[in-house]
Amino acid sequence: MAGDALIELRGVNKHYGKLHVLRDIDLTVGRGEVVVVIGPSGSGKSTLCRAINRLETVESGSIKLDGRPLPEEGRALAQLRAEVGMVFQSFNLFAHKTVLANVMLAPIKVRKKKKDDAARQARELLDRVGLASQADKYPAQLSGGQQQRVAIARALAMDPKALLFDEPTSALDPEMINEVLEVMRQLARDGMTMVVVTHEMGFARSAANRVVFMDDGCIVEDRTPEEFFTAPRSERAKDFLSKIL
Ligand code: ADP
Ligand code: MG
Repeated sequence: MAGDALIELRGVNKHYGKLHVLRDIDLTVGRGEVVVVIGPSGSGKSTLCRAINRLETVESGSIKLDGRPLPEEGRALAQLRAEVGMVFQSFNLFAHKTVLANVMLAPIKVRKKKKDDAARQARELLDRVGLASQADKYPAQLSGGQQQRVAIARALAMDPKALLFDEPTSALDPEMINEVLEVMRQLARDGMTMVVVTHEMGFARSAANRVVFMDDGCIVEDRTPEEFFTAPRSERAKDFLSKIL
């Protein structure tokens, strides 16, 4: 683990009715670390991400961010959501707002930033994701890859301590996947703490410090990409890799 623990889950359990979707999850993500989460559909990857951002409650166990338990509700919860950005498969941009306005919105509303400052920061972030020239367009005028890069800029605008990505490239046409992964690689190099659910094994190999393999609500393996891809220990991981590689 690189540096100290930023995200810490201990003995986390969650059910949906009778379905046990998170089973005794222990996971530590160090500051500056990139953890890629892989596993079959339905194994609990999205639920794990949503639990870390407290978009889902859990029944038992503890989840800490930067040493503090996740808040239950109210202002503290809004603050937490600001500290852990989330990027989804569907970009969730506001269709009736420009790209610039999309990136400025949360800093003004949640952080009470001045409009000028928010606009300056938004332009810097759009530049960072390679979209400086698209600031005044509307989301529908952009490609899927560009929209997802706007979504990343928007998440960064809150100065998050960590970013969670839930299959950020799964909805994209193949030729757009790389431009999004490249932005994510750059974030990783800049030291951003990231949890990334993805099926992009090239990204996992090149950018992850650790690969977490989930199956049926359990973390089955948690190892370096090199160890995981060259010699998966579990039959379940071997089987999964044989299907996707
Ligand atoms: P993954 O992201 O790995 O595909 P999910 O975390 O989305 O898996 O889902 C894990 C399991 O929980 C799946 O069987 C899914 O159908 C179920 N599930 C997810 N969300 C809900 C929900 N809101 N209500 C009931 N079941 C759900
Ligand atoms: Mg999912």
